[in-house]
Amino acid sequence: MPRLPTEEEDNITGCCGLSRFFSNNNNNKTLISISADEEKKSFSPYTYSAIPSMDNLPAYEDCISRAFEQLDMKQDNILENIVQDALTKVDKDLRTISLDLHEHMEVGMKEKHAHDLLTGYMEKQGFKITRHAYGMETAFMAEYSRGQGGRRVGICSEYDGLPGLGQGCGHNLIAISGLAAAIGIKAAMENNKVEGKVILFGTPAEELSIGKIQLVNKRAFQDNVDVCLMLHPSAVGAPYAQMIAVQDVKVEFFGKPTHAAASPWEGVNALDAMVQLWNNISMMRQQLMPTDRVHGIVTDGGQAPNVIPAHTSAFFFVRTPKYTELKRVMDKMEGCFEAAAIATGCKVKWTWRETPTKDVVQNNIMAATYGKYMEKAGVQFPPRQAQEQGGGGSTDMGNVSYVVPSIHPMFAIHTTASNHTVEFTKAAKTIQAHQDTMLASKSLALTALHVYTSESYYKAVKKDFNDHVPLDEQH
Ligand SMILES: [Zn+2]
Ligand SMILES: [Zn+2]
Repeated sequence: MPRLPTEEEDNITGCCGLSRFFSNNNNNKTLISISADEEKKSFSPYTYSAIPSMDNLPAYEDCISRAFEQLDMKQDNILENIVQDALTKVDKDLRTISLDLHEHMEVGMKEKHAHDLLTGYMEKQGFKITRHAYGMETAFMAEYSRGQGGRRVGICSEYDGLPGLGQGCGHNLIAISGLAAAIGIKAAMENNKVEGKVILFGTPAEELSIGKIQLVNKRAFQDNVDVCLMLHPSAVGAPYAQMIAVQDVKVEFFGKPTHAAASPWEGVNALDAMVQLWNNISMMRQQLMPTDRVHGIVTDGGQAPNVIPAHTSAFFFVRTPKYTELKRVMDKMEGCFEAAAIATGCKVKWTWRETPTKDVVQNNIMAATYGKYMEKAGVQFPPRQAQEQGGGGSTDMGNVSYVVPSIHPMFAIHTTASNHTVEFTKAAKTIQAHQDTMLASKSLALTALHVYTSESYYKAVKKDFNDHVPLDEQH
């Protein structure tokens, strides 16, 4: 027979604090919902009558959210007109800026012309400018705020190019898309439709994956904005585009030089170590996941054919879909380095980058809203699964997406060329690409406006972020 707790044991349970917790917090709510359930059951025998069962009636919350949707639609049309008008006004200016950046391409961390051009223009547009933001020569912030409090939205512009290719990734279009979205949001504020702050971040050196990572390390996003949005041109539009994680490593082999013909046996060949490393990596690939990537170049292959190379070096990228998987491939790579050194008698040294570039966590709520506006304008996208499997590229926006809810949709610019090609460089200056950019920028601004106008929308955005980025990774 089960023993009943004594009065004393009951008291002990009461003293541990657990029962107090239940009675103060959850227990009351649970009791209420149970009794409501019981009530429903006792009042729902009307399966045969014209009176609808209580179970079939829409929940109170559903009625509210439907009402919100209707309100939003009205609000939407007003905001859409405001944003469209603002963008029409600056369209020509932005086209000129875009062509200027295309003509005067600058590589990462050296975008002085772009920095001055963009900050000068945004200053004229009434934004408060911070030049050389966070100690970076070519980073900037352009802010505009209205009212007390309100939400804070970040937008990113990129403007660096590729050596030998010019604007082969279309960052001249990203630059003006950031300007356009920030100007559109400012217009809604000036028309007293929203309150809060918009910050355009000028983020240098995306191709080197440096700019946003340094800004994240200095808490530029975490301390200043609640969400962050940006756009990227591509051959195919994809609101949910997958952007994967990347880490890089520099490897050096140290041998011993000698005359390559007279006394090769006295040398230790650092180039042999490099060749061996290449073979190790090629064999390792068989055991990698189909979604992993390892690729590199030799940066020093020796000095002269008649000298056994004493030093060689290489530079590799390692990519996995999530940044938390990088270590799996990094460990295998280190095995390859060591094996090559042992086999050839060389010494080896390798250096991984301090902070890897993380994958982009696309915020599902904001990505869906952006997609909805694009579709409304007649743009079609591949199925979501195809969008999520299509990517192989990486961006430092990934690191931003781990600290604040973010989106990085790809928008199509009427080309079949891949990014980082001569053809894409040409496509990035067409009038068609410009129009595509303006349309996508308008959709991005309208998406951002929901963050200001609807508490429930922002809550959903935040919930999606917390669901996909564990708390201990939000840094
Ligand atoms: Zn690129
Ligand atoms: Zn790019």
